[in-house]
Amino acid sequence: MYDLVIIGGGPAGISAAIYASRKKIKFILITESFGGQSSVASEIQNWIGTKSISGFELAKKMEEHLRAQEDVEIEEGSLVDKVEKIEGLALGWKVHLQNGKDIETKTILVASGGRRRRLDVAGEKEFEGKGVVYCSTCDAPLFSKKDVAIVGAGNAALGAVKDLLSYANKIYLLIRSDKIKGDSILFEDIKKDKRVEILMMSEVSEIFGEEFVEGLKYTDKGENQTKELKISGVFVEIGSVPNSEFLGDLVDKNKYNEIIVDFGTQKTSCAGIWAAGDVTTLPYRQNNISAGDGIKALLDINFSLKNKTPSRP
Ligand SMILES: Cc1cc2nc3c(=O)[nH]c(=O)nc-3n(C[C@H](O)[C@H](O)[C@H](O)COP(=O)(O)OP(=O)(O)OC[C@H]3O[C@@H](n4cnc5c(N)ncnc54)[C@H](O)[C@@H]3O)c2cc1C
Repeated sequence: MYDLVIIGGGPAGISAAIYASRKKIKFILITESFGGQSSVASEIQNWIGTKSISGFELAKKMEEHLRAQEDVEIEEGSLVDKVEKIEGLALGWKVHLQNGKDIETKTILVASGGRRRRLDVAGEKEFEGKGVVYCSTCDAPLFSKKDVAIVGAGNAALGAVKDLLSYANKIYLLIRSDKIKGDSILFEDIKKDKRVEILMMSEVSEIFGEEFVEGLKYTDKGENQTKELKISGVFVEIGSVPNSEFLGDLVDKNKYNEIIVDFGTQKTSCAGIWAAGDVTTLPYRQNNISAGDGIKALLDINFSLKNKTPSRP
């Protein structure tokens, strides 16, 4: 039985794993991939100690740093499916993987982050990667001289408009309500460009095409009418959802399925399970913050394992 299973190979999971190795904890890190969400970013300028680095390079460095530690066990390319209590043990969990493996452990750190929120409309799944995309930083160059739609009202959507301005011919920004949620400075800035058309109160209902996206339908809620846009790309920028389903109701979560933790120790409501980074109710989503959360969690797990008593609340 392991002392600790760390779920996730993003900044939260990797920072915890490096500390776990240095604390000589018998652990295994289970992850689908390394580096986390920003590994697709073309440039990261706020990773402390590094002026500028691509997301891909940062992910590689994180993995190298982890593998350079002693006694590191990694289960890569695997997804955790379910977590179950081992009956009769005060601290004992069975972690089921999608590949059929089961791993037993005394404690768990959930650092499984988030994934992009989907629109859940007809055609979205069918045209994913064929015009429907979720990362403007990664995919904006593919839409050079094309007409595109961006869906969302927050900074991610406004940032996507900025990214697309370097490439696209025409950009429609579809906002479901009558409110912009992103920074007003950014909004005022993009509004100045004649290639940007802002469609407020506009909710996407369908994405269509033959082999690739050719257009979308949306409800103009102001006029109560269904309208169509001829476009080649749809950038879905409506936030993220936490990867917390595999825990079921073992831990308390908020209405968005984010895990509720004590931010001093990263403890969840369930003894023996900690959580760190974007999978929690953390309001600010950043690499440095997730890394710090992972370390806080690990130090608290170490304290619990060594002292067999809870840390200070
Ligand atoms: C395009 C983009 C650009 C960004 N740019 C920046 C930036 O410039 N600076 C900055 O500070 N932040 C940036 N961010 C935010 C930053 O990436 C996140 O805050 C950070 O990655 C969160 O780290 P995390 O470890 O909590 O989770 P994640 O990075 O989401 O990592 C979660 C890990 O868990 C794994 N995983 C998920 N589910 C399972 C499962 N069931 N079983 C096993 N493994 C699983 C995933 O494969 C992944 O390795 C950006 C985000 C995006 C999307």
